[in-house]
Amino acid sequence: MADQKISALEAEIRRLIGIAGPMPIAEYMRLCLTHPEHGYYMNRDPLGSGGDFVTAPEISQMFGEIIGLWLVAVWKELGAPENIRLVELGPGRGTMLIDALRAAKTVPGFHDAIVLHLIEISPALQKIQERRLEPLRLPTLWHTALEQVPAGPCLIVANEFIDALPIHQAVKQSDGWHERGVIVGADGALAIGAMREPLPHFEATLPRGLRQSPAGSIYEWRSDTAMLEIGRRVRENGAALIIDYGHAWYGLGETLQAVSGHSFADPLRAPGEVDLTAHVDFQALAQAAESIGGRIHGPVAQRDWLRRLGIDQRAAALKAHAPYGKGTEIDQALSRLTASGPRGMGELCKVMAIADPKLRALPGFETS
Ligand code: SAH
Repeated sequence: MADQKISALEAEIRRLIGIAGPMPIAEYMRLCLTHPEHGYYMNRDPLGSGGDFVTAPEISQMFGEIIGLWLVAVWKELGAPENIRLVELGPGRGTMLIDALRAAKTVPGFHDAIVLHLIEISPALQKIQERRLEPLRLPTLWHTALEQVPAGPCLIVANEFIDALPIHQAVKQSDGWHERGVIVGADGALAIGAMREPLPHFEATLPRGLRQSPAGSIYEWRSDTAMLEIGRRVRENGAALIIDYGHAWYGLGETLQAVSGHSFADPLRAPGEVDLTAHVDFQALAQAAESIGGRIHGPVAQRDWLRRLGIDQRAAALKAHAPYGKGTEIDQALSRLTASGPRGMGELCKVMAIADPKLRALPGFETS
């Protein structure tokens, strides 16, 4: 290892481990993704051509369009307020918003009512968003955290945002649960280890079904901060739509993963150069948002949600007007967005809404 060239971020991580001991996975993930200078998101476009991964809005315009229809329907449910903030968390290349706003344009009053607030930590992606959204000529403000958005009626959307927020991991040992952290292994490479002292009273904070798990079990969790803030914003005259890879019920197991060049990579190699994500525990999100007064809708599988909102009809309409040869592309995009099976995006991705409790039913969640 010693003769291998390491990045500036890896050198910094090793230095911090040298001073303070094992670095909690959450801290490692935070540095890898959002270190001001060397973080993965900070100076690149991971979604563009030659990027590392593809998200639903980048697969097809249909995804953003359906989101747009949902937004106007919910805006109407809220009584069509004349002023409402449309907030997107982690807008990437801005594609979802552009498609959503085009679809929503047909509804009188909606464009006039909104101010856009984009929560984006990456200066590189903010530049792309500015350039791509400029032609819409809508009032648009950028922030680095939801807390900076002024209070008031709001619609919040987030696709593949929560999975980029840091997770903690703990492993069960004979004397209790220990937080996992990044260490320098015996061979000199970064490795996963555990803190020496157990987390006090950790088992009592776990969902009931996970207490008394066998030794070696791994549990992941995220800070509730983001979800509490979303819940606080929407509980009066608001609604949020969260779409992400994740599970509807709590569980054990490790989901931290790295992706580079559209393939899985080792999360401990090339820190800051590869994307890191971990599945979203929708039950934990729901509990946090509910505890602060939001009403939860779903989660439902992305496939079912998109179908209930008419993605099949939208695909058929697009195909009817598509130039020769484009029909197959539309079919392929539709199957990708709605793919079943444990690895299919339509099943692995879930959709959940959190809203003002006065909204009893929301589009796409009716039968759940
Ligand atoms: N929603 C987009 C992009 C998903 S990638 C899409 O579906 O295509 C994750 C996005 O969240 C990027 O825009 C990234 O820069 C942003 N992001 C990641 N962590 C963030 C944080 N802590 N605060 C604000 N934005 C963040």
